[in-house]
Amino acid sequence: MMLEARGLVCGYGDITVVRDVSLSVQPGQVLALLGRNGAGKTTTLKAISGLLRTDAGEVVIDAEPIGSLPPYKRVTRGLAFVQEGKRVFRQRTVEENLVLGAYTERLKSRALGERLQEAYGRFPVLRDKRHDAAGSLSGGQQQMLSIAQALMRRPGVLLLDEPSAGLAPAIVGEVYDTIAQLRDEGMAVLLVEQAVGWAASVADRIAVMSLGHKLYEGPATGAGAEAAIREIELGGDQAGPGGTAPTVSGRL
Ligand code: ATP
Repeated sequence: MMLEARGLVCGYGDITVVRDVSLSVQPGQVLALLGRNGAGKTTTLKAISGLLRTDAGEVVIDAEPIGSLPPYKRVTRGLAFVQEGKRVFRQRTVEENLVLGAYTERLKSRALGERLQEAYGRFPVLRDKRHDAAGSLSGGQQQMLSIAQALMRRPGVLLLDEPSAGLAPAIVGEVYDTIAQLRDEGMAVLLVEQAVGWAASVADRIAVMSLGHKLYEGPATGAGAEAAIREIELGGDQAGPGGTAPTVSGRL
């Protein structure tokens, strides 16, 4: 599926945080949305998913406008959002979490069984732990579970917010292998990430945000991308809310 966001404007109360941002992601492509803390990346994902009302703009999936639909209806149109911070139901088992992931579809038990096998095929560790409470999983396994839960509805567009956050590098590698695999299977992936190196390892294109504006969208490599990344790394947006953190090499 193809995702397009056109001219999004949104914020919190009277504060505008996302200012006229347009993005597009083709099937089988990863677009990495980069920017420093507070640039408006997460807010952009919330607007696309419908969790946050927009003041202007449109969201389109395969030429169909979905910007006036509530979040659960956008899900039924093929959009999945994996929010930062492992949103799993900790007291429920791994398998219960996966079943909940498919709830919007009212699947017959056979179809549901097929989806579960798909998830376990992709993430064998979840099969081994399917009867364990999700809260007992490691951070990396919980991240896998939240991605697997989103995939239960077989989405065509996946929004991922900082999948590397809080994970050890070896585990981040596994998560990114999964992202690359989904891309190769034809998923359109919009990835928000602070870790530029990881994002660059899977991204075909990047978009760079600063203070709610999009500075750049285009190929992940080349002079344009390098200039846009340098701009945010040098702190051209330091005056912004939350934009004063020092730059660590390889991170924004
Ligand atoms: P981060 O990596 O820190 O999440 P980000 O680029 O995703 O950065 P956002 O989370 O979109 O940034 O936040 C953009 C701005 O909106 C920040 O100034 C932040 O303080 C503000 N903001 C975020 N969430 C809320 C909220 N619920 N209410 C009010 N302001 C918010």
